[in-house]
Amino acid sequence: MAEIELKSVTKSFQGLEVIHGINLAIHEGSFTVFVGPSGCGKSTLLRMMAGLEEVSGGEVHIDGQRCDHLLPSARGMAMVFQSYALYPHMSVAENLRFGLENQRLPKDEIAARVAKAANILQIEHLLARRTNQLSGGQSQRVAIGRAIVKEPRAFLFDEPLSNLDAELRVTMRGELISLHKRLGSTMIYVTHDQVEAMTMADTIVVLSEGQVEQVGSPVELYARPQNAFVAKFLGAPP
Ligand code: ADP
Ligand code: MG
Repeated sequence: MAEIELKSVTKSFQGLEVIHGINLAIHEGSFTVFVGPSGCGKSTLLRMMAGLEEVSGGEVHIDGQRCDHLLPSARGMAMVFQSYALYPHMSVAENLRFGLENQRLPKDEIAARVAKAANILQIEHLLARRTNQLSGGQSQRVAIGRAIVKEPRAFLFDEPLSNLDAELRVTMRGELISLHKRLGSTMIYVTHDQVEAMTMADTIVVLSEGQVEQVGSPVELYARPQNAFVAKFLGAPP
């Protein structure tokens, strides 16, 4: 069963439609990458799944249940942003705990989740440090940790590596792929970077101007691009 489904989803801002009736099924446990040029609607789509933005038309379903009327907290998804969105005046440990304390989880459960996430991301030595003293790569690890501790049904990543230098970006790609293997959770990853899409995804969704151009595995899209846009964008032979 598809874990997340978009049915004829549209979005308009000030009367201007930017997402034009998208139908899409994202399978449970997949690493799905939305790729397309800047402004094509990737972030808007992700934000509508997370509940941070309302749909203008159509429906969002999770596990077969309509959820486009639910608050973000009720959808069980965790989002990681390019800008990290950490609390600068708090320590790493406090940042990791923050969302969980609002959920009223028992203290020992919170401590166990924070310890596990810190171990997975190898940031145990940073737990007492304030997040405004961290490097970009360390900050992004904490931001990912904050998603892991929520034990979400799905992770939504919005260009999480765009602010990192090229070398670190390659390292972090590998770490995210390992994380996906380890947790087995559904991951939806947005990027404008074709290389990132081709190397990380098991399923790629190519978007342009608020529409889906093609969905498939990296090999399928490269070998059999459905149209000239996909071929050109992914650098495949036409
Ligand atoms: P991407 O993430 O692929 O770069 P976005 O989802 O941010 O694209 O934007 C898609 C389109 O929607 C763009 O034309 C953008 O200008 C427009 N848009 C996004 N958010 C808003 C907003 N809050 N108000 C008005 N227009 C918006
Ligand atoms: Mg964006």
